[in-house]
Amino acid sequence: METLKDIEAVLGPVPAGPIVGGQVAATAATLAVVDPATEETLTEIGVGDTDTGVAAVDAAAAAMSGWAALAPRRRSEVLRRAYELMTERGDALAHLIVLENGKALADARSEVAYAAEFFRWYAEEAVRLEGTVETAPAGTNRILVLRQPIGVSLLITPWNFPAAMATRKIGPALAAGCAVVLKPASETPLTALAIAAILGEAGVPDGVVNVVPARNADAFSSRLLDDDRVRKVSFTGSTEVGRLLLAHAARTVVSSAMELGGNAPFVVLADADLDEAVQGAMVAKLRNGGSACTAANRFIVHESLADEFSGRFATAMAELSVGPGVQPGNTIGPLVNAKTRDKVASLVQGAVDGGARTLTGGQAPDRRGYYYLPTVLGGVAQDAPILGEEIFGPVAPVVSFRDLDEAVSLANATEYGLVSYVYTTDLRAGLQVSERLDSGMVGLNRPVVSDPAAPFGGTKQSGLGREGGHEGMLEFTESKYIAVEW
Ligand code: NAD
Repeated sequence: METLKDIEAVLGPVPAGPIVGGQVAATAATLAVVDPATEETLTEIGVGDTDTGVAAVDAAAAAMSGWAALAPRRRSEVLRRAYELMTERGDALAHLIVLENGKALADARSEVAYAAEFFRWYAEEAVRLEGTVETAPAGTNRILVLRQPIGVSLLITPWNFPAAMATRKIGPALAAGCAVVLKPASETPLTALAIAAILGEAGVPDGVVNVVPARNADAFSSRLLDDDRVRKVSFTGSTEVGRLLLAHAARTVVSSAMELGGNAPFVVLADADLDEAVQGAMVAKLRNGGSACTAANRFIVHESLADEFSGRFATAMAELSVGPGVQPGNTIGPLVNAKTRDKVASLVQGAVDGGARTLTGGQAPDRRGYYYLPTVLGGVAQDAPILGEEIFGPVAPVVSFRDLDEAVSLANATEYGLVSYVYTTDLRAGLQVSERLDSGMVGLNRPVVSDPAAPFGGTKQSGLGREGGHEGMLEFTESKYIAVEW
């Protein structure tokens, strides 16, 4: 399945433009979708403008009351069917992700499995939207609290997990009874459009899920946030864009959920098992080739282990094969575009200029495509600029620390607070450090935290709210309190 045609033969046709009210909408403009492994155009699709966005809100608003009124069991069954269809066609969907995003096939396959799980999990949650009944403290009445769907929701997703970031929002929104307008990233619109087609086939009524690739993201989202009918914005992407959306949402007081950038510390305590720590470091760094908000971004290693850890880590990184994601032997695909690759290169250069040692990698290979070699930087200064930025590529800077207080303070020295990793053989120390780390999630002797059943999200400028778990569905509801006497 190397071409879009091969993929569509298994997956079914990928809609070639915005899906509004169950139909492909006519558009004035088109967008070229590029394969990052070849820098060649895969296909051109229609892209919407603000009018397309308003038409999508019209469709969502018209469809929402019927969807919200449907029995939760029925909504659950539709989501379950979507999980089954996505799983059956998982391999074709994974190939589609590789084509437009560039990631290695194994990463794309695990993304599809993870993405489909959000439909299964929220199929199970849709029938568990509980309210509460209490007696008022004064004994005069009852306090009845219901959960109602919040309303038409604007979902905006990034290119790095084009399937999972979409289903992590669509699943809970649909479970709660909301209709949505999803704007996928311009780099990777095909996956979201393919998922919309699957949802339609699973029985989601027309208008409940609208997917609108749009050329001018700012104008598009601003117009929709000004629309009274849009009651929620759920965004995953950079902190920079999150701040803009929050400022805009403030004007119409739209409920906002923000999954933003990360700068995860990977802390290796003095008693850590080095084999496990290096293995964990490889996974925490390289899921998605390093283009993950959860990617370990700073390796903070006890001074007694730092050289040994860095050396073994560099050896393992040097063994990876870099090349087109579609070839199963390759574990590191290209970055998504030239801008991302150039940013990674300049961060590495800055660290080296500041005295860091390149233990492996340190350059873009001489080949077509937006590749960067897996890189380990040893002896990075504690105040090096690379430690303050989200690298978003296969680059691992290692710094050392002397004692636990220093490790915690280094780990927390960032505006981000999405996830932290800790490796130790002392569970007590591990839990104590975990409590002190200022992040929404911690991987304790575990390099992956993402789980549809768990609340995913960050502290500080990594975001607001949680996705996944029961909490993820509550994000798409509003409490209705009824004071009642009976
Ligand atoms: P991005 O912020 O550039 O874009 C994300 C989405 O926002 C895209 O759909 C884009 O078209 C849209 N967008 C861009 N400018 C906009 C504007 N002015 N107004 C409205 N929408 C706008 O992010 P990206 O480069 O696609 O993704 C990488 C970023 O996403 C990283 O910072 C990463 O950490 C973050 N991310 C976070 C999570 C999480 O769960 N916390 C998950 C994945 C990615």
